[in-house]
Amino acid sequence: MKFETLSIHAGNRPEGAYNAVAYPIYQTSTFMFEDIGKTKGFDYSRTANPTRKVLEDTIARLEGGKAGFAFATGMAAEATAIHLLSAGDHVVCGDDVYGGTYRLFADVMTRFGIEFSFIRMDSRQRIEDAIRPNTKMIWIETPSNPLLNIVDIEMIVDIAKKNNMLSVIDNTFASPYLQNPIALGIDLVVHSTTKYLNGHCDVVSGAIVTSTDELSARVHYLQNGMGTCAAPFDSWLVLRGIETLAIRMEKHQQNAAKVADYLVAHPAVDKVFYPGLKDHPGHDIAARQMKGFGGMMSFVLKKGSNVEEVLRGFDLFALAESLGGAASLVEHPGGMSHASMPEDYRQTVGITNELIRLSIGLENADDLIDDLKKALKKA
Ligand SMILES: *Cc1c(COP(=O)(O)O)cnc(C)c1O
Repeated sequence: MKFETLSIHAGNRPEGAYNAVAYPIYQTSTFMFEDIGKTKGFDYSRTANPTRKVLEDTIARLEGGKAGFAFATGMAAEATAIHLLSAGDHVVCGDDVYGGTYRLFADVMTRFGIEFSFIRMDSRQRIEDAIRPNTKMIWIETPSNPLLNIVDIEMIVDIAKKNNMLSVIDNTFASPYLQNPIALGIDLVVHSTTKYLNGHCDVVSGAIVTSTDELSARVHYLQNGMGTCAAPFDSWLVLRGIETLAIRMEKHQQNAAKVADYLVAHPAVDKVFYPGLKDHPGHDIAARQMKGFGGMMSFVLKKGSNVEEVLRGFDLFALAESLGGAASLVEHPGGMSHASMPEDYRQTVGITNELIRLSIGLENADDLIDDLKKALKKA
């Protein structure tokens, strides 16, 4: 089955007492045993829940992985994934990952004896120089949040395999429709399914997809042991969102290409970060490893611009964190999504005050451009 068909049918079959076509929400904490030691496959919803299971199977199929796991949030998925490691282990991590990822690693996990090096992932030499005898994991985000940097997945896989490290990718920005890292050799895929997979800004949730049975068993052990799993209703919402993922991603990126061209030509704009632009430094790699360039972009206003007035100047774009929904969003990474990064760290990676991030929604592109035109007048 092709992607669009899988999105609708992979885990979902008419089911239950009434052959419901939409999979039911099994809103139950516990399941009756048929006899001592005998269940219908489910005993307690932290361990496994039927609605969650359908979602997990669907995401696994879409990513081409062995098994999927659904979590309460993207951060719950990441917290679970990083618990595959132990005190004394070291991680090489991208330097412009999501702000919450940086906070979890740099502020929380370091207190438990896990070490991190945050580096730009664009040079094999730089990555190899960061590897230590205790390096057990390499963690990348591509396209990255909020700078849309592109990491060469095959290069990362090659380095990871040669150095016996687990390779992990945050695939949130691309979604499995545009990028399938397991096919390129990545060990573990994590998602904030809050974003494109759900696609409607009405749930927070996360996922992990594994590439081997051994990793599946370890991730399931942690999901159950840590209690980081997704709720049945949230799982159902994500499952419903996934049915339209392919068609949404196509429209997101059609709109994004038009908006990026508009921004490039605008006199108030200094730089545009969108991997679909020919002069984006990661364009060729993105074209090779992605099926399209997605719906996220950021841009830098000229120095001395009135950033706050621009942010206030939108009517259609909502000033809000998050991304990947039907409605277009604008946000200021320095003060919002990436405020959990220290100021001097933000400056060194390029998250400056003039940087604005857009999540391009499913509206008509001309309306989005009119709204940008109006806001940029305030620059
Ligand atoms: C939002 C986001 C996360 C965190 O996910 P939550 O669902 O908000 O917990 C992780 N990585 C990326 C790239 C994100 O955009």
